[in-house]
Amino acid sequence: MYDCSTLSIVPPCLPGETTLKPALKLLLSRLSQPDDAEQAASFGRWWFDMQSKQWIVSMGAAELLDVDMGLHHSLASTFAQVIHDDVALLTSALATDPTLPIKCEFRIINETAGLRWLRLISVPQQLLKQGVLAGVLVDITATKHAALRERFSFESTQFLVGSYSLGEAITKVIRLVCETLGWEWGAYWSLEQEQMGANKLICRYYWDSTNDKLAPFTQNSLTTHIPTGAGLVGSVWSTARPNWVEDMVNDHSFLRRKSALACGLKSGYAFPVSYVTADGRRHSPGVMEFFSCLSRQKEAQLPNLSATIGTLVAQTVQRLEQQAHIRQLAQIDDLTSLTNRNHFHQLLDAACLNASVSNTNFGVLFVDLDRFKPINDAFGHEAGNVVLREFAQRLRKITADNGEVGRLGGDEFAILMTKKVSIAQLKVLAERVLQAANQPFSFGDRELSVSASVGISVFPEHGWTSAELMRTADAAMYRSKKNGRNALSFFSDDNGENQEKQSSLVKQLTMETELHRALVNNEFFLEYQPVFDSAGTRMVAIEALIRWRRANGDIVLPDIFIPIAEQSRLIMQIGRWVVKQACKDLALLQQAGFDDLQVNINMAVPEFVSPSLPEELMVIIEACGLASHHLCLELTEGLVMKQPEKVIPVMRTLRQYGFKISLDDFGMGHSSLSRLKTLPISSLKIDRSFTKGLPEDRGDCAIVRTILDLGRHMHFTVVAEGVETDAQLVFLRQFGCTLIQGFVISRPKPLQELLAYLPLKT
Ligand code: C2E
Ligand code: MG
Ligand code: MG
Repeated sequence: MYDCSTLSIVPPCLPGETTLKPALKLLLSRLSQPDDAEQAASFGRWWFDMQSKQWIVSMGAAELLDVDMGLHHSLASTFAQVIHDDVALLTSALATDPTLPIKCEFRIINETAGLRWLRLISVPQQLLKQGVLAGVLVDITATKHAALRERFSFESTQFLVGSYSLGEAITKVIRLVCETLGWEWGAYWSLEQEQMGANKLICRYYWDSTNDKLAPFTQNSLTTHIPTGAGLVGSVWSTARPNWVEDMVNDHSFLRRKSALACGLKSGYAFPVSYVTADGRRHSPGVMEFFSCLSRQKEAQLPNLSATIGTLVAQTVQRLEQQAHIRQLAQIDDLTSLTNRNHFHQLLDAACLNASVSNTNFGVLFVDLDRFKPINDAFGHEAGNVVLREFAQRLRKITADNGEVGRLGGDEFAILMTKKVSIAQLKVLAERVLQAANQPFSFGDRELSVSASVGISVFPEHGWTSAELMRTADAAMYRSKKNGRNALSFFSDDNGENQEKQSSLVKQLTMETELHRALVNNEFFLEYQPVFDSAGTRMVAIEALIRWRRANGDIVLPDIFIPIAEQSRLIMQIGRWVVKQACKDLALLQQAGFDDLQVNINMAVPEFVSPSLPEELMVIIEACGLASHHLCLELTEGLVMKQPEKVIPVMRTLRQYGFKISLDDFGMGHSSLSRLKTLPISSLKIDRSFTKGLPEDRGDCAIVRTILDLGRHMHFTVVAEGVETDAQLVFLRQFGCTLIQGFVISRPKPLQELLAYLPLKT
């Protein structure tokens, strides 16, 4: 430790030194020579005379503080470069009891090195008796930068799982960089395609720490579209390299030079927001830039730090875009880009709620194309698709901003007129829909013609709920069909149940009776589909899938009868039968040597909202001698999101009992990511419709990878369902999917066949 009392040379008196204690004068004289220790360990020394409030700083300390070496008559002159906010910190640290150690961290803006973090520490020494404090100053910028990198990683994960929008997430990053690295203004430029098809960089988000002092520069940035390759931002994007502007006054290639000069900006730094994906592709969504009113010169640590930030932001941008894409996929019909059935029902629900609160009315049109099937049969699906797409466009044009058009499926469309309209206006609209259908459609050099049947219902006369309104509009549409097609009808009570509707109701009731009989006659059976690890070496679980063998030998699949069973108490009985049978079969498999095997059981809505479910399941597994962690309940995402207040408490109890829970068909529902975070689940199953497009469909690839990332971040196991090909398998393995289910490994099989197929354990 440095001891000031060892100094012996008497220095000449300099102005202001007269009040200095002799020991300090001695010190001052030695300072003009460089100190090897200071240079080797990059620190500096200081002394503070508490009586005269004068400071002495060594050569090392002066360099760090960016002031002159030697004597300073005040704190203000010694710490002239300290950031205003930190001066108070420093003053209060020095005002404490001088016999106690002082430790204080503060920031300075160094004209050449930019923002630095310094630590001031006092050291015990003999001069303290004479009222002189002494100590060292250390540059801790590198440590702070390392902590900053950590913080960026953490925050970017927060952005991913939190409910931030892209704008909020990026603005937070810009602000964090400005505040930590001492820039006054920062922005994110995003690469976008303009109407003419050219790529331009557009300033999307910015942060200004100066209370709008830089407003002209902000304005200039927000209105400038920069071609790739041009100026600072464009060249950083093109070269994928960071760049400094050391002297804006003389840099004529800087496109916003005029407004920058007017605002007093002098230097800047820009770096690419980009990263290279695991498969070697560079993803470069934009550029970040930061400016200062100081003439800052190149800082050695910045490129490293900016590479970390650039990568994290690029990954966040890509993930948030993928999430938006997933959300959009859940709401948009692929073929026509109209609102899909599910989302249309949600909009209708919301419209019912609004209208009942505001005491208004609105109309719904149900539109079905006539003679569409013959077009498909005669000219192929592509011809059918052309008609559907073009008709969708026409409906959109007619509706304009007054309502929402949805495709319900096949050749069925619906229009929700959200603006208050009269019956006469609804009739005019329906007539325009008929005309739109009557206009010919071109397919190559052919002209195709169809017509439409339209049914109209009105809130609240024909229904208070979306289900009622759709049913009455549908019934009215059937009347138009019965009246010879190419017609419109309003719903009226004398519509009655038209024949088709009646027959479908009769079919449903008949099936319900048959299902009751099937339970009594033991006509249900289970098939099991294995879930393997992605290497294909270990069977981890089996999924129980119910089938119904009718008396005549026909096999009926669950998609046909489960929805009907769900409409009555029948589903509870069928569900319990499945659990009991699956547990019995699992016990057999475990006896055969598969002692760690798990069975996955699908659960329907009514089964799952029953609070007694956990107890009932415990009774069943105990009777079969199984442990609760061998049972995994599969719930569809939609089920959880529909009634979270009822479902989540049951889920929690099940998890406490040790059962596993998997979110089935993930990606198709409407889970908000923030809710997903709180769900007590152990795994996710990627919906079959996403696996299908692998590895050719870029959208599906992006979605699957996002779900895999999500699983990793939230510590869920991810199972890919419906894997049919080796190429899909390769893709899933490459991106770290651990569990696989699908025809590529095995189709669902009855227990006996499964036992024969499996290599028995010894
Ligand atoms: P899920 O739970 O998503 O089950 C997976 C479905 O995908 C099964 O159809 C299975 O046969 C099929 N599958 C598996 N691998 C592939 C593949 O590689 N390619 C293709 N194209 N399909 C594959 P399944 O057996 O027809 O079951 C349909 C749905 O019925 C199930 O979807 C599930 O939601 C429901 N379900 C089945 N059993 C039960 C049950 O016991 N209770 C309830 N509530 N629902 C059940
Ligand atoms: Mg399932
Ligand atoms: Mg599924």
